[in-house]
Amino acid sequence: MVSGNQSLLQRSHASVWHPCTQMKQHEALPLVPVRRGDGVWLEDFDGKRYLDGVSSWWVNLFGHNHPHIKAAIVAQLDQLEHVILAGFTHEPVVRLSEQLSALTGLGHSFYASDGASATEIALKMSFHYWRNGGQHGKTRFISLKNGYHGETLGSLSVTDVDLFKDTYAPLLRESVQLPSPDWRLAEPGESAEQYALRCADRAEEYIAAHHAVIAALILEPLVQCATGMAMHHPVYLRRLRALCDQYHVHLIADEIAVGFGRTGTMFASEQAGIRPDFLCLSKGITGGYLPLSVVQTTDEVYRAFYDDSVARGFLHSHSYTGNALACSAALATLEIFAQQDVLASNRSKAAYLNRQLVDWADLPIVHLRNTGMIWAFDVTSGQAGFQQRFYQAVLQRGLLLRPVGNTVYFMPPYVISESEIDWMLEQTLGALKECI
Ligand SMILES: *Cc1c(COP(=O)(O)O)cnc(C)c1O
Repeated sequence: MVSGNQSLLQRSHASVWHPCTQMKQHEALPLVPVRRGDGVWLEDFDGKRYLDGVSSWWVNLFGHNHPHIKAAIVAQLDQLEHVILAGFTHEPVVRLSEQLSALTGLGHSFYASDGASATEIALKMSFHYWRNGGQHGKTRFISLKNGYHGETLGSLSVTDVDLFKDTYAPLLRESVQLPSPDWRLAEPGESAEQYALRCADRAEEYIAAHHAVIAALILEPLVQCATGMAMHHPVYLRRLRALCDQYHVHLIADEIAVGFGRTGTMFASEQAGIRPDFLCLSKGITGGYLPLSVVQTTDEVYRAFYDDSVARGFLHSHSYTGNALACSAALATLEIFAQQDVLASNRSKAAYLNRQLVDWADLPIVHLRNTGMIWAFDVTSGQAGFQQRFYQAVLQRGLLLRPVGNTVYFMPPYVISESEIDWMLEQTLGALKECI
């Protein structure tokens, strides 16, 4: 008899095309069929449990099966599941927009369902803002080396990941990437701050020369997540904010991964004391329950579209824009932040985890780094296939981690306990010893 796992795997292979995957690799590496989730744990059909060390691709904040978020969605289901947001409005979307504005100081919120759509929206809005102001020449975007902003054609144009981009290069708009302030790239003896300032000087040279044709600069504040949790000093963001002001270039903060407490503050930009012109949010916004993204912008940008002319408006839409169920999950997520001191509790969890890492200095790893609830290190052994072998080795042990090349990272749900942290580190150590 085939187990519950086996039959689902066969059906999945026959019908589902999985994301970010060469499907043929699954001939050797079985998919993991998940039946249920609870807290930091996922469970398969045979009862084997996996600690979700990547928060299900960085979306989950307070664990799976969270009673408060679940109850909020169920309550919303009794009222209204969804309604067209063109010409109509509803309470969850209004309350969410008000609460996000109170948190970020950005007065208006435009909704979509995933992160890539949010970055597309921000790029289009920025271009259209300048156009409405008679500046038709501002048609280009700049981003950072090793930045990631999603994989639809527009967002992929500002993403800098060769593996995702090279195949589609003929379809993409040209965009320029400025040096990444990733502190691992500092010269020996150069501090993270000095290196960030040096990168800001390079950015200034470029922006000073080309600002007339640049609509916006898009970046991931504090941590460039998708390319291996590259971290930088907040002074970079302060300098770039000042440059964007000076040269009339919009600053788009893509906080899709780093927003909602991930870096230790509610939003990463806060650590630099800056406010972007556009803020892209998604992933953790619903606690990991439902797809929702938002672009927040200033009332000044909003007013530049407000006109008797229809064409000066922002004529962009997605069918599920402002979905009421997703907004109710987001409101429940914000309630958890308001009712519990999540950031303080995360600080003590992070301090605990960092204390447990002190002994790791002897391992063949470098650049052990932490920002908020994100940890990463780079394995120095150049052995081929580390990424796959390590992924499988931790999975065997019941731990879900997805290394990026030779970078291993932890991005656990905030509800992880100290004993679960110990267990996660123990399994990681065991797997490392097997793989390096
Ligand atoms: C995940 C991510 C995106 C894309 O979001 P999707 O919902 O996967 O389209 C964009 N920017 C950053 C920084 C991300 O981490």
